Amino acid sequence: MPKGTSDITQLACPLCGGSVSAHGCPRCHLSAADIDRHYSTSGRSARSLADSIRSRFVGLLVYAGMVAWSWWFMPTVFLFVLPGALVGGYFHAIRGHAVTGALVCFTIVVILPLLLVAAGLTGLFADVTGGH
Ligand SMILES: [Zn+2]
Repeated sequence: MPKGTSDITQLACPLCGGSVSAHGCPRCHLSAADIDRHYSTSGRSARSLADSIRSRFVGLLVYAGMVAWSWWFMPTVFLFVLPGALVGGYFHAIRGHAVTGALVCFTIVVILPLLLVAAGLTGLFADVTGGH
């Protein structure tokens, strides 16, 4: 629940759910600023910070796995996957915008090569039709 930022000691720790001192959570070593930011930005349940940390970690694994996969199995798309995963992972893990990261990654990895392929095919078709 959004409680505002006035009195942090009224809040429960977003990680362990325990009581919070003016300096943060003594058990999780979360600073008061972290807890304050958690409640003022997300304003969701006490579990959401732990969930978001887990989902960021999973997201990083997914992006890293994607890069590794393309490196081994589809080296031709690696040049698209690497920056796509870097940008997607940045939005996902650093900024906490999983959807934005996925969209940006999708655009770089899928849309951009499709556009290039489409452009290449268009040129190829032009050559074919021009030759006959
Ligand atoms: Zn805690």
